[in-house]
Amino acid sequence: MSPETAWKATLGELELQMTKATFNTWLKDARLIASEENEFVIGVRNDYARDWLENRLKDTILRTLSAIIGRRVHVRFVVSSDEIIPPPAAAKMNGTADPVEPQNGKKTHHIEGIKNGLLNQHYTFSSFVVGQSNRLAHAAALSVSENPGQTYNPLFIYGGVGLGKTHLLQAITHKCVEDGYTICYISSETFTNDLVQSIRTKQMAQFREKYRTPDVLLIDDIQFIAGKESTQEEMFHTFNDLHSQGKQVVLSSDRPPKAMATLEERLQSRFEWGLMADIQLPDVETRKAILQSKAEDCGVEVPDHVIDAIAQHVRNNIRELEGALNKAIAYAQLSGGVIDMELVNMALADIIRRPDKVTVDQVIDAVCDYYKVSHEALGSTSRSRAIAFPRQIIMYLARTETDASFPQIGSQLGNRDHTTILYGYEKISSLLETNSTARRDVLEIKASLYESQPASG
Ligand code: ADP
Ligand code: MG
Repeated sequence: MSPETAWKATLGELELQMTKATFNTWLKDARLIASEENEFVIGVRNDYARDWLENRLKDTILRTLSAIIGRRVHVRFVVSSDEIIPPPAAAKMNGTADPVEPQNGKKTHHIEGIKNGLLNQHYTFSSFVVGQSNRLAHAAALSVSENPGQTYNPLFIYGGVGLGKTHLLQAITHKCVEDGYTICYISSETFTNDLVQSIRTKQMAQFREKYRTPDVLLIDDIQFIAGKESTQEEMFHTFNDLHSQGKQVVLSSDRPPKAMATLEERLQSRFEWGLMADIQLPDVETRKAILQSKAEDCGVEVPDHVIDAIAQHVRNNIRELEGALNKAIAYAQLSGGVIDMELVNMALADIIRRPDKVTVDQVIDAVCDYYKVSHEALGSTSRSRAIAFPRQIIMYLARTETDASFPQIGSQLGNRDHTTILYGYEKISSLLETNSTARRDVLEIKASLYESQPASG
């Protein structure tokens, strides 16, 4: 498939995945202006669109594009005017720099996060709004970033979804990179997958080299190692090794170590050695301050009463708070008008009505419905194609459409091993490239998934 075709197909799928307003505002005019083996350079109209895509839609775009191509690729957004399509080399120079590459010509360092596109350049200390709810976590993160290995070790940050854990971990990462430290920033899933792979290919020496030599190791969402024995074993030794060398370890989790049910006691106690800092729900003042700061970043004038209304309605999740503001801004740009209460109400209605992601259960329901198979059959061990194929479609869609990890999907699909899920996901990914019937099936199931989301709130 040519890169051009792949990008067109990606746009087609994205259109199905989001509201018309979002698609038209941000993606309709996004064009492929260059491509190399593993990188797609996408031209957009202005800085604002570039930042928006980079911050809000990059993950979705990457996932969709990678699924269509059948392998992982990178995407870079650059500003390109309507008339002139710059040649690839020029596009490269105009483009944004590597996410964490300092502009001042400082020596750059190898960072795991760059390679797998995990780092967001906007997640810095300067863009983090401090309030009552996150004061401790912020202060601790700042202190650790200034003197890695010397204050709190490990630093364990925990709190609910969308409250800024990843932002703080990446802020530490950026600061330490600037200061010339070597960093490894990863999710705990990556650690696990890497470990499994290294054992399989007998490359444990490389694995240990990678995780035991950086000055700072940051692992996001550590809660996913619960219940995984060999990961915990390796984590234990990694931790001891780094800690004894005076190297910094930073962890985030959606809950405190004590509440991680199947976490080995020795790890639990290690995690509690340094400082545990929680992030709580933001109060209304903090929510307003965050909205104001985001509006300023976007360079958009947002009236106070609009900020008030959004801050009043969205309470539990800062990601949703930002989402509501972005929607209102997008609608205003679309209609060419100012942001007024009517637009805000539309934006809020959208956020409240439509959860960001569907759940694995919803995927299972939609697929069962589409292929007319029963839930029991899917969960069973049957390998007949009539059952096995829809099952793999679920593995694929559960991965692309929900936040669930491979192990989580496995446990909801009749307790299957995560490698089975990975296999199913990969199989369907490559099938979609060659088989138009399968592609149509997947598109139709997706359409039904997003149409049938129940109203709530
Ligand atoms: P978590 O990892 O806890 O689920 P994230 O770090 O991904 O949450 O945060 C969700 C979104 O909210 C991100 O876009 C992040 O930049 C933003 N955010 C969270 N806390 C703050 C804050 N205190 N100031 C500014 N933005 C924040
Ligand atoms: Mg996170």
